[in-house]
Amino acid sequence: MIYFKSKEFDSPDVRGSGVLMDETFLSMLEDARAKANIPFKINSGYRTQERNKKVGGVKSSSHTKGLACDISCKDSRSRFIITTALIDAGFNRIGISKSFIHVDCDIDKPLNVIWTY
Ligand SMILES: [Zn+2]
Repeated sequence: MIYFKSKEFDSPDVRGSGVLMDETFLSMLEDARAKANIPFKINSGYRTQERNKKVGGVKSSSHTKGLACDISCKDSRSRFIITTALIDAGFNRIGISKSFIHVDCDIDKPLNVIWTY
């Protein structure tokens, strides 16, 4: 990886668990980061089941499969830049909240969706 370190994706309860992230997901995310050309701060990457429960994640969360991350994002300009870069990189599952953007490539879930929190 060029832009990210594996530890940025660690579940906070298990050091080194960021290595469980899916490689295809990470290469798409690197591509999106290159296209956006602004920093992506990862709020949440891989999650153990325990961690996912603790943060109130949905039961079959893509985070527990290493197929998702949340990128910190608090203003409308970066929200536009990051979201368009993710779409340009080929992502088609995006969740937008006031403070972060969720992105995943979980093919067991509906494609071509953008939801809000
Ligand atoms: Zn998420």
